[in-house]
Amino acid sequence: MAPKKKPAGSEKSGPKKTDKKQVGKGGFLPGGGGFMANLISTVLILIILTSGYSLITNQGDKEEPVSLSQVAADVRAGVISSIHIEGNGLVLAYADGTEREAMKDPEASLPETLAAYGVTPEQLTAVNVTVESESGFKYWFLSLAPILLPILFLGVLFWFLTRQVRGSGMQAFSFGQSKARMIDPADTSQRVLFSDVAGAKEAKEELLEIVDFLKNPKKFLDIGARIPKGILLMGAPGTGKTLLARAVAGEAGVPFFSISGSEFVEMFVGVGASRVRDLFLLAKKTSPSIIFIDEIDAVGRVRGTGVGGGNDEREQTLNQILVEMDGFDPTEKVIVMAATNRPDVLDPALLRPGRFDRRVTIDLPDRKDRLEILTVHARKKPFGPDVNLEVIAERTPGFSGAELYSLMNEGAILAARENRKEITQYDLVRSIEKVMLGPERKSHLLGKKEKRLTAYHEAGHALVGSVLEHSDPIHKISIISRGRAAGYTLKLPFDDKRMHSRKTFLDDIATTLGGYVAEEMIYGDLTTGPSNDLAVIAALARDMVSRYGMSDVLGPVAYAGDRAYGDATYSQDIAAKIDAEVARIIDEGKTRARQVLEENRKALDAIADRLTEVETLEREEFETILIANGITPKKKEEEDVSI
Ligand code: ADP
Ligand code: ZN
Ligand code: MG
Repeated sequence: MAPKKKPAGSEKSGPKKTDKKQVGKGGFLPGGGGFMANLISTVLILIILTSGYSLITNQGDKEEPVSLSQVAADVRAGVISSIHIEGNGLVLAYADGTEREAMKDPEASLPETLAAYGVTPEQLTAVNVTVESESGFKYWFLSLAPILLPILFLGVLFWFLTRQVRGSGMQAFSFGQSKARMIDPADTSQRVLFSDVAGAKEAKEELLEIVDFLKNPKKFLDIGARIPKGILLMGAPGTGKTLLARAVAGEAGVPFFSISGSEFVEMFVGVGASRVRDLFLLAKKTSPSIIFIDEIDAVGRVRGTGVGGGNDEREQTLNQILVEMDGFDPTEKVIVMAATNRPDVLDPALLRPGRFDRRVTIDLPDRKDRLEILTVHARKKPFGPDVNLEVIAERTPGFSGAELYSLMNEGAILAARENRKEITQYDLVRSIEKVMLGPERKSHLLGKKEKRLTAYHEAGHALVGSVLEHSDPIHKISIISRGRAAGYTLKLPFDDKRMHSRKTFLDDIATTLGGYVAEEMIYGDLTTGPSNDLAVIAALARDMVSRYGMSDVLGPVAYAGDRAYGDATYSQDIAAKIDAEVARIIDEGKTRARQVLEENRKALDAIADRLTEVETLEREEFETILIANGITPKKKEEEDVSI
């Protein structure tokens, strides 16, 4: 296994935030309001509907209808002034002002019926007869109600069930709607403040302005200030980009809508774009607010390269984001924040003025920041008297905030597993390696031969790393399995490094090849053990040539893109040159490693022997072996005072 400074895949080790609210279109309804409340309201609506129905139908019950013979008699007597015919119902207006009702014979017309009762045409003409066809509301209601009511009932029932389903977070009816999670400013349990983010001082200062605007937009708008709509947070995984974005919302006390770029990439074309639309709509409705697009590189990669052909969806989503951002009017109080650890692959269209033109870089924490982060995460943990976080901060160069968080957590877990009430320094020290390399696998016992081979492999790394000038000092060597590695060699720089030089890279490559070369030298054969080492140096050598301009043959040119992805910006010819340079660098590294190991064969054997015996060598013991074999261990350099 290669000497490791920095583990990969740290993203996952961060804490999980579970209880964020899922917000669909209906998400602002008072969250379902409880089953009983819904049931009661549904039942109430039904009761009102049915009673309304019976009220209308039973209107005529109040008074006995007049019989037809009586009507005829009254017409003959001339006491009826008018008759109003409505369907089969008759409304009789008497000369004395009273009004009564009657029913006519449905089979015959009224004049016919009255004639049969002996009313003469002359007597009838004295009565004002009006006819109304049954088109009134009452008629329709009466005839349709028996059909409509059950349908209405079913509709209400369906609506009620839908709300239940949505309330339970199944989102069964929210296809295409914004899947954003929202953090409500009123929910203090989820609130993150700047004080929860340690270090990152410059980033916080930059973002303070945004907080100020969100808190008091009027002040800025009145004076005609233009506030950036897009802020891009850039930094390695686990450096606290997401945390910082949430802290901005927390400090400003505004709603925070977050969605991850990878969530946009759905099966169906068009879904991503419609999600973006919904998300922006939602945010505008609740403005001032923050939209946070995490891992924006998942949708915001350079367009038009046709990777795998199926990126229509990605492109449409990206376009929609751009359209929405361009469509903001200057008084809009919505700020779009985005995070990425690959700013180099972003589409330039995203970075144009008026879009994500404000960029905030978050670096890996230096020693002082690491101490601060450790202190933040130590807040609610009981520590023994021997705990010295400063030492832990010193021993964790290259650790991200997320890794420091999981280091503290692992320490607590170790203490709890051994039923102790306090976390000790030893718990934390052990956790450093656990976070770096994965858990120890004591059960994974190596056979005798395998053990010896692994010992030579690790001794090879350690020895080359100790002899070459620009390699970092070795802290520990072990042949106890960890994660997928059979053994490991740990090297740590004395100080945090911001920049790496060509010489360091070349020594690193030789050191990483030390294991491979030792196996070849001692056994005349190779195992699958060094496969990861080889992948690491291949990538490093390629970066040296194509990104950092560290090859004399190709010169100081950065070749963007990758031919494997089809987005290379250089020719086949250059690609061949790059390949040749990579091969040359690796070959030279191998030669140098071999030279060191051959010249110090005695030391190599001594380290491998001791390692087979004790399985783990700490720095002091390792350096004793070096000195015994005439090799001077690395010393911390004097402070460089020249500028
Ligand atoms: P990123 O989004 O950059 O990958 P996150 O914001 O998700 O990183 O960070 C993951 C976790 O790591 C955070 O929830 C927090 O616990 C811890 N963390 C990272 N940076 C810091 C920091 N500067 N201060 C305190 N905790 C941090
Ligand atoms: Zn190795
Ligand atoms: Mg993140």
